[in-house]
Amino acid sequence: PAAPAEVLRSGDSRPLVVAAELPPSRHFIAGGYADSTSARELDVIDPCSEQVLCRTPDGTAEDVDRAVAEAVAARGSWARRVPKDRSDVLHAIADRVAEHEDSLARLESANTGKPLAVARDDIAGTVDTFRFMAGAVRATGSMPAGEYLDDHLSLIVREPVGVVGVVTPWNYPLMMAAWKIAPILAAGNTCVLKPSEITPVTTLKFAELVADLLPPGVLNIVTGRGDVVGARLSSHPDVDLVALTGSVPSGRAVARAAADGLKRVHLELGGKAPVVVFEDADLAAAAETLRTASFWNSGQECGAACRVLVHESVATEFVEHLVREAATLATGEAAAEGAEIGPLVSRAHFDRVRGHLERALRDGARAALGGGPLEGPGYFIAPTVLVDVPEGAEIAREEVFGPVVTVETFRDEQEAIRRANDVPYGLAASVWTENARRSHDVPARIHAGTVWVNSHLALANEVPWGGFKGSGYGRDLSILALEDYSRTKHVMHNHTR
Ligand code: NAD
Repeated sequence: PAAPAEVLRSGDSRPLVVAAELPPSRHFIAGGYADSTSARELDVIDPCSEQVLCRTPDGTAEDVDRAVAEAVAARGSWARRVPKDRSDVLHAIADRVAEHEDSLARLESANTGKPLAVARDDIAGTVDTFRFMAGAVRATGSMPAGEYLDDHLSLIVREPVGVVGVVTPWNYPLMMAAWKIAPILAAGNTCVLKPSEITPVTTLKFAELVADLLPPGVLNIVTGRGDVVGARLSSHPDVDLVALTGSVPSGRAVARAAADGLKRVHLELGGKAPVVVFEDADLAAAAETLRTASFWNSGQECGAACRVLVHESVATEFVEHLVREAATLATGEAAAEGAEIGPLVSRAHFDRVRGHLERALRDGARAALGGGPLEGPGYFIAPTVLVDVPEGAEIAREEVFGPVVTVETFRDEQEAIRRANDVPYGLAASVWTENARRSHDVPARIHAGTVWVNSHLALANEVPWGGFKGSGYGRDLSILALEDYSRTKHVMHNHTR
């Protein structure tokens, strides 16, 4: 089967958003929109039409300094609030986002090109993250007080870290912001966040929507480029911790800049998730799962099931299943009826993915499905399954971040594990088998922060998300995220004096 070569177009239907819904070209500092110290602006592009959607300030180091000063000023009173008070605020934020689910989803779709149904899923996830952290901060507190030394009473308390600088990516703009903001504020910190310069729209809109629920200065948004705004956040002496979701080079830059001030760092970086399919697996079920897990968000997903390693005895049959599934994916504009996957987010990213595909095909891989761009306007790439991928090929080692799955074969379990681990990343992986021993042994030997067995990309707010190796350190979601944005203090009383 061939992938549908057509891009579903929205035709004459109404635009996703009207100009009045878009945020102004300003930062959001101390509870309101604020001008930049510079008049320079960055274009925000709609990746379906390739037209300018809006503009945002090309922020400066001075803009960051102002936002950090506000976060410092707000820090004490927010930190002193009891968990229930902060929890109530987070619940109110969740309610507010849920009330505006429709407009936030449309704004996210217009900015990222993702189909409206996919954007709605992001907003629902955002609401649940705030609800989860609102509950978690009340349920997880200090360690038990007690006498651990004669005549001494120990109190072991969790404190906020202080001011947290956050830098977010473009693939799930609002949801990735929520994964940081919710635990950061729940734990009693204040925050200065820089959204991706490509996708700032929903983050600014979110700050505007929840402004009356938060004291001024608790949440500040500064737009602009990574090497200016992100770099200043990472090195600012009054920022106590910096958290980034992004690429490995950006992670390195943040960690380097933070090192001088011995700032704590939290990094969620890239992935290259292996999907290890043994000969005893339910091949049809694996292929059906990969239809979503490989192509969701056009494969612009750090946990995407992008690198299949299948036992050589079932490889042909598995590829048939996978191609049959992927060929039914509908690619289209964000507002098009029935679209399941949208364009890539930007011209630069589209050119990167196209380059990866061209080199892979030149180096010996064969496209069993797709293999290149679809007709514009819009940065569309056809859902692609590449087979005959030589071991060690660039396409199977580097993060592509597009609707592209590679298929390689292995001979035995040892080789499968070795090859699964043979990339610099260690974010996620899945193992497909009906064998009970394998379902325990193999995940134990895979170097990844998440390993699914007979599943892929399933996630809940209760469970941690984060990487090993080049995928970074620190955990988003779950109570571990609250811990990451906290510090521990031990107060010991000698009660004989
Ligand atoms: P990116 O690294 O280009 O940009 C991420 C953010 O970092 C942007 O806001 C950017 O402006 C900023 N940045 C760039 N240089 C910086 C610097 N020197 N200092 C501080 N900030 C800087 O990544 P991207 O293209 O926006 O996102 C895609 C990447 O993010 C992929 O590698 C993907 O795997 C990763 N990602 C990881 C997760 C996860 O949970 N592990 C989730 C989503 C995306």
